[in-house]
Amino acid sequence: MPDDLYQRYQAAHRAYQAHAPSCGACTRDTFHCRDGEKLHESFARLQDAYLTRQPRKH
Ligand SMILES: [Zn+2]
Repeated sequence: MPDDLYQRYQAAHRAYQAHAPSCGACTRDTFHCRDGEKLHESFARLQDAYLTRQPRKH
């Protein structure tokens, strides 16, 4: 069964990666334009949710 959260996390990452090189303002982690900020924010939130959900140790 595909992991929906992982898929969304990867999609958000791709969306941000697709935006950043063509933007010019979003090449650094510390500053984003308005669109980049939204993309980066949803990517960071999904990444956080995904990583938090991972089992610690087995
Ligand atoms: Zn940007």
